[in-house]
Amino acid sequence: MNYPLQRRNILAQAIKAKELDGFLVTAAVNVTYLTGFTGDSSFFALLPKNETLISDTRFATQIEEECPGMDAVVRGHDKTTIEAAAEVLTKSGAKSVGFESNRTTVAEIEALKQLAPKVTFVPVAGQIEGQRVVKDPGEIESIRAAVRAAERAFRMFVTTVREADTEKDMADAMEKYVRRAGARGTSFPVIAAVGDRGALPHAPPTDRQLSEGSKLLLDWGADLLYKSDLTRTVRSPFGTLPTRKNKGERVGYDFEEVYQIVLAAQNAALAAIRPNVRAKDVDAAARKVFANAKLKNDKHVGENFADFFTHGLGHGIGLEIHEAPRVRANSEDVLTEGMVITIEPGLYVPGWGGVRIEDDVLVTADGCRLLSTLPRDPNVLSFA
Ligand code: ZN
Ligand code: ZN
Repeated sequence: MNYPLQRRNILAQAIKAKELDGFLVTAAVNVTYLTGFTGDSSFFALLPKNETLISDTRFATQIEEECPGMDAVVRGHDKTTIEAAAEVLTKSGAKSVGFESNRTTVAEIEALKQLAPKVTFVPVAGQIEGQRVVKDPGEIESIRAAVRAAERAFRMFVTTVREADTEKDMADAMEKYVRRAGARGTSFPVIAAVGDRGALPHAPPTDRQLSEGSKLLLDWGADLLYKSDLTRTVRSPFGTLPTRKNKGERVGYDFEEVYQIVLAAQNAALAAIRPNVRAKDVDAAARKVFANAKLKNDKHVGENFADFFTHGLGHGIGLEIHEAPRVRANSEDVLTEGMVITIEPGLYVPGWGGVRIEDDVLVTADGCRLLSTLPRDPNVLSFA
């Protein structure tokens, strides 16, 4: 199946419905989606009589390899991509051409208008992003491959991590393993947060050692063009559970109990996922578990755990690490079969730390399927 061709056909129909003669794609990620070309600095023009990739000589061979049979205008270095695009559009005779108003800069569109005065440029926002929300089977397979690579990296990580490793060491190691597992790199800078630093949902890695905390929060993903995004929170195997004397973490909550609450929230969210459900209702399902959570020896009577869940439940993944749909309280998105989203509830207690569990999920006709297979087990760091 030629998925890029199928995507271009869908775009062509949408353009027709908008009574446009053509469409100019300027965002590299959307050019990739429509053509399979993975380079950058290139545009794609969908025109009544042809489709043209507008690129430069650096990418000539790559275009032949990645987009066999596609028309390409490969500019020399005496011309800019904008100039080449203006020529392509003028030559095509197209009168009205849509452009990605959410991606194209004002300077770019002003230059295009000047260089192609016969063309009327019509702003269209989010056209291709809208198409990208629902993944085709080719994309689902690519995301699955990115998940598998991230999981292989995690398995290498847990067998090699050492007591004296710092957060920076662990983030570096994870990046290396993700590449070794076959990815181009990580989908985003790895988060490795020891002890109470786990209370920062996006903690930048520091020199804090694994042995200085009782738990480790690790958030990472693999980039194989398509992205994966996973988080595991694990117990540090070095027995430094927080005590009153521990400077890094206050006594407060039992790790295992908090972990089980977060896991229950994730399971409640997974159970709520199916087509035609509002994304905000899935977020609410997780939040409800937090609001009702009770601890055995609760010294923080009256504390509402929902207050410690300080971000949205999840987001779409695909060619970009954050894309539609948004899975959060203020989202208007409705779930559809073929969407791929993260479900990542977390509790962040200042001075104690955080627990987050993040998995990648495909919305199916009758519910959802986890694309990630790593056990949701906090005791995977064993040094026996
Ligand atoms: Zn993540
Ligand atoms: Zn995420």
